[in-house]
Amino acid sequence: MPYKSFGFTDHQLMIRDTIIRLMERELPPEKIDALEKASAYPEEAFRVLAEEGWLALPYPEELGGAAATYKDMAVFIEALAYVHPGITSAYMTTVIYGGMQLARNGNEWMRNELLPQLIQGRLKMAIAMSEPSGGSDLAQINTRAVSDGNDWVLSGQKVYITNAHVADRIVVAAKTDPDAGRHGMSLLLVDTKAAGVDIRPMDSLGRRTSLPNEIF
Ligand SMILES: Cc1cc2nc3c(=O)[nH]c(=O)nc-3n(C[C@H](O)[C@H](O)[C@H](O)COP(=O)(O)OP(=O)(O)OC[C@H]3O[C@@H](n4cnc5c(N)ncnc54)[C@H](O)[C@@H]3O)c2cc1C
Repeated sequence: MPYKSFGFTDHQLMIRDTIIRLMERELPPEKIDALEKASAYPEEAFRVLAEEGWLALPYPEELGGAAATYKDMAVFIEALAYVHPGITSAYMTTVIYGGMQLARNGNEWMRNELLPQLIQGRLKMAIAMSEPSGGSDLAQINTRAVSDGNDWVLSGQKVYITNAHVADRIVVAAKTDPDAGRHGMSLLLVDTKAAGVDIRPMDSLGRRTSLPNEIF
């Protein structure tokens, strides 16, 4: 098999074979078709990944993770996408885009309370950086976060935010010091049930099991 000649370790080949077998069982073509037609998040396949411990893959062992390398992760992600790109997006938005922020930049509560919930499949996440004015140049975002003394008050609009409609919490990029350019930006963790958060799924042409969203 040509794939096996790329210098992967036995462990990485085991990851690939296990994931393809598992996902082909959970997501046969007719099920993918039904999910796509219903614009439905691949909830059951995501739950199986959680039950089998795969959501812990990239995190350090002291945070309950499996300390996978970048190459391990590349093999794993490619295997998911081989079966269904939508389950890859489901995994990426929660475990990589959201969870890696909790693990690397989070406070004690985020690392010790939220991350275990995420690993168990009880917390879904998304990351909201892009805005209608553009996505490549993040320093140009217009979303503002202003402290009222107790809380940060966010105002602005985000667009193309994958899986925000199923997320429990979203990492939001905002300007906290507009005069400081790229140094005046922060990432805030937003509860999607918080007052004033309005998440609207977009009608994308494809990739309908992990929809993009507008957020106001
Ligand atoms: C399927 C999908 C899922 C997405 N999911 C998310 C998500 O979960 N969260 C999120 O925050 N965003 C998400 N995005 C948005 C994505 O991050 C942006 O589309 C991306 O950052 C590009 O931004 P833009 O589309 O506004 O294009 P622009 O930034 O307007 O760029 C348009 C074009 O101009 C080029 N360009 C821009 N600036 C320069 C420059 N200075 N010099 C030279 N060329 C330049 C770009 O390379 C590109 O070709 C998603 C997008 C897609 C398509």
